[in-house]
Amino acid sequence: MPSEFDLIRRYFTRPTRHADLAVGDDAALFRVASGMQLAVTTDTLAAGTHFLHGTPPHDLGWKTLAVNLSDLAAMGATPRWATLALTLPAVDEGWLAAFAEGFFDCAGRYGVELVGGDTTRGPLAMTVTLFGEVPEGQAITRSGGRAGDDLWISGWPGMAALGLMVLQNRVQLADASQALAALHRPTPRVEAGETLRGIAHAMLDVSDGLAGDLAHLCECSRLGVTLDVGALPLAPLIAAGADETLARRTLLVGGDDYELLFSAPPQACGALAALAQKLGLPFTRIGQFTEEAGSILVADGPEGSPYPLDVCGYDHFALPD
Ligand code: ADP
Ligand code: MG
Repeated sequence: MPSEFDLIRRYFTRPTRHADLAVGDDAALFRVASGMQLAVTTDTLAAGTHFLHGTPPHDLGWKTLAVNLSDLAAMGATPRWATLALTLPAVDEGWLAAFAEGFFDCAGRYGVELVGGDTTRGPLAMTVTLFGEVPEGQAITRSGGRAGDDLWISGWPGMAALGLMVLQNRVQLADASQALAALHRPTPRVEAGETLRGIAHAMLDVSDGLAGDLAHLCECSRLGVTLDVGALPLAPLIAAGADETLARRTLLVGGDDYELLFSAPPQACGALAALAQKLGLPFTRIGQFTEEAGSILVADGPEGSPYPLDVCGYDHFALPD
């Protein structure tokens, strides 16, 4: 039976280049470049709450870091160092090896170094704390929106929620691979977040459904929004096999998207189109900030007049947390 130290050495100790001291001492040491602010975020994934029991460990390793990367991306920060607190019901070396591989695949892809952590016994859960850097004063917060800004969403919101419905046997798709990949191996929009510095006024990453997170952005920016429901990017969900009603629901109230929702002045439209092309990541304009704080209106009402978004109308869909 390997000791905790053997396991840490075997699975979670990798050389680091940017930390002064990493795994193995009582604390890690690293320094932030001058002129940069430290950006810190933490997120837990717990079995049964954030993922289904039996989720492949490689995917869990990837996702536990990816969800944190998404938070730093939403600040416009560059990820650097991470700690990993692992709670394991038992020592299963096959599981640990696959989990570590998934974690370091993601870490390698985004230039993150694992500098420490904790390993304990208990119901399966993992917490990552992620440290990143952002040029002083340039972080993109939730509160920076301005009336008249366009609202944009990246990528394929709703796809992960569709994947969860497949796993729960609530929907069947001819080819579920894209939906399941979105659920298990989300792509954090790190490069997009960094490049949006100086363009986006307000930003957050969508993890609890577009409608709810849009309300958060409005609240923090003390603004309202008119939502162009006709512009919502339903087509990829429909192409993946959802009907239009399901596509709209997964997009508005599904979760686990890890897409970026941001506001930018209308004159940034051209720059955003060029950026989307460069990144190979669609940005869809879905509405506009208004001065009416807290008012979330759908622009294209039945009589052509705006009406309040009825999120409750979609709520019976309620995905588990
Ligand atoms: P202490 O009891 O002093 O907190 P630990 O036994 O918890 O030390 O950890 C020993 C070393 O291994 C520390 O440097 C810690 O950061 C690191 N560590 C523990 N668990 C993990 C893990 N899951 N991933 C990465 N590093 C870990
Ligand atoms: Mg410890």
